[in-house]
Amino acid sequence: MSPAPDVGALVERAREGDARSVARLISLVEDASPLLREAMAALTPYGGRATVIGLTGAPGVGKSTTTDALVTAFRGRGKRVGVLAVDPSSPFSGGALHGDRIRMQDHALDRDVYIRSMASRGHLGGLAWSTPQALRVLDAAGCDVVLVETVGVGQSEVEVARLADTTVVLLAPGMGDAIQAAKAGILEVGDVYVVNKADRDGADAAVRELRHMLTLGERRGPDDWRPPIVKTVASRGEGVEEVVASLDKHRSWLEETGALHERRLHRAADEVQTIALTALRERVGDLRARGGEDGLDALAADVVAGRTDPYAAADRLLDGLTGA
Ligand code: GDP
Repeated sequence: MSPAPDVGALVERAREGDARSVARLISLVEDASPLLREAMAALTPYGGRATVIGLTGAPGVGKSTTTDALVTAFRGRGKRVGVLAVDPSSPFSGGALHGDRIRMQDHALDRDVYIRSMASRGHLGGLAWSTPQALRVLDAAGCDVVLVETVGVGQSEVEVARLADTTVVLLAPGMGDAIQAAKAGILEVGDVYVVNKADRDGADAAVRELRHMLTLGERRGPDDWRPPIVKTVASRGEGVEEVVASLDKHRSWLEETGALHERRLHRAADEVQTIALTALRERVGDLRARGGEDGLDALAADVVAGRTDPYAAADRLLDGLTGA
């Protein structure tokens, strides 16, 4: 086992932009290390600067390619960029996410780009628990922009989208994408929609269909944000400047209306709640392992035997957890 790192020193070096220290801090997050509490406390004074942009969409729509093009665009403006590629479907990590190697090649020598894949490693809180903490690391490390890329395969990408200031939903022509998007609830989370692979047939039809679906559910007031739809050919960099312009516009809207603060409040509330619930679940697990008359197994036996009802048992369990 490697010796426990000096968290204070790691945070200091991460703030100076040392990539290895950033990597070690994010590994602490992935491993749900007991040192995290100290790390988060040390990082807290340096947070709140980065703009967080979420990108989501079905596998193959061009998320990696688009992320890469956005990194190039932001670097062109002198921004320091972090990329966090999260895969809700995979408990494994280690940078094996599809598309990473290509990106690594393009930006590997750039000190102002930090790219990292992350998986939940089966941790109880999952990515909803780990992603905000990894964002704190990248924020404190001086990233002006962090792109959070997540595979749109279910409900978890909607959760991850909630972590972003601005969420970009990617679609591609064909494949009945728009309908799938509606099913996945993705139509509610997008601030900017991108129809990528506009070099393929059906891009205009996809835009029309998407616009139609967005207006169907629309209950927006005059000052509300109306998500734009941008066509891109990410593999050739076409339309990427328009995406960046839409991101800028959304950012201005967020700031002018106070929505940025609102979103960040929601995000912090989610984060605190997730940490608390995860801690609670861990303690339930501990009680189960320890046994005892207020342990979960003993309470379950009481319920099965008809000695107590499940509500009373749950009360006793909670008393046992919080009373200590
Ligand atoms: P991801 O799974 O969503 O991250 O998708 P990728 O970025 O890995 O892209 C999937 C495939 O589509 C790759 O082979 C890309 O080169 C290709 N691709 C990405 N953007 C475009 C595009 O605008 N047009 C076309 N024709 N292919 C693209």
